[in-house]
Amino acid sequence: MLAIAARAGSPHPSLVAPPNLPPPAEGEVLCRTLQVGVCGTDREILASRQPLLPPDADHLILGHECLARVEQVAPGVAEFRPGDLVVPVVRRASTPGRRRADLLPFGHFTERGIVREHGFARPWFLDRAEYLFPVAPGVAPVAVFTEPLSIAEKAANEAVTLQRARLGETAWTDPSPRVLVTGLGPIAFGAVLACRCRDWPVTVYGRDEEATSRVRLAQEFGAAYLSARQYAFEPSDVERDGFDLILECTGSDDVLIRATSALASCGVMAWLGSARMPRPARHNVSLAMRHAVLGNHLHLGTVNSAPRDFADALRHLAQLRHTHPRPLAALFTDYLPPAEALWHYEHRTPQGIKTVVVYGE
Ligand code: BGC
Repeated sequence: MLAIAARAGSPHPSLVAPPNLPPPAEGEVLCRTLQVGVCGTDREILASRQPLLPPDADHLILGHECLARVEQVAPGVAEFRPGDLVVPVVRRASTPGRRRADLLPFGHFTERGIVREHGFARPWFLDRAEYLFPVAPGVAPVAVFTEPLSIAEKAANEAVTLQRARLGETAWTDPSPRVLVTGLGPIAFGAVLACRCRDWPVTVYGRDEEATSRVRLAQEFGAAYLSARQYAFEPSDVERDGFDLILECTGSDDVLIRATSALASCGVMAWLGSARMPRPARHNVSLAMRHAVLGNHLHLGTVNSAPRDFADALRHLAQLRHTHPRPLAALFTDYLPPAEALWHYEHRTPQGIKTVVVYGE
């Protein structure tokens, strides 16, 4: 099977011969890729025609959401055995430091499949054991969603940490924060899952009409739905009808600015998405500033995820396999072999959520 790559100058994904791998060196694990998720970031890398290439490479192998099986372990690896299922993390610090890798500035890390290091959309890869999380066999069918879910887990965890630092240790325990998730893409669904697993009430805001399969799926997870046609972020009483946490997953500046009107006092707006090629636009930013200042709002940009968030994602997927098996399985809208998956790296199907490239069983 071939690898899926982005080349400088081209907006199209290419199938390339996977690199030959040496036997795993001390501390390394040879992994066989089973599944890779296609993500908006892959599409943006291709659309930019400027993938961040590994040194000496003329292409970047894509794929940063992965489920794999351990094939061989080198000396010094005690935590894995051949046959174990694993999910790899995306980001790796270039030099060890005191900050968590997910909080490092650009230039101080690589990201597999995104920033100057080949990803997992290929039959085999080598990795260091410390970058792999073990997957319980019961979670395997949905474990390729661990990485995107961990992005939402980080937003929830960071928001809780910051709220407790300023409002006290019991903040957001009783009552739970009222959450608004904006968007209906995979990260928005991750946000719904992360909140429902914390028993937080969730409302989703999106452009779909009420009757679409994505809206029904959000409702099956226990979320309420507000369509952009009915809801204008103008509650008459924001303390009574507004939200304590908004997880902004559309990446739309317009949605973000307008949604600040629905954020209650001491609310948190977490920014999970953004355009890779930002364009100037006119918005009433002074209104958002007014709300933020008078409401003691916290605006929180968040990217990538910490080990804590990967662990939460795996734990929550195990929980949802019991509580919500049907909608959980329905998040995966296409399973395709590599050669048939290329279209999905440039397009979205209207009601598609997560496309999975299948490399092995
Ligand atoms: C990935 C993150 C990564 C971010 C920025 C996202 O698609 O899920 O792990 O840090 O892109 O490169």
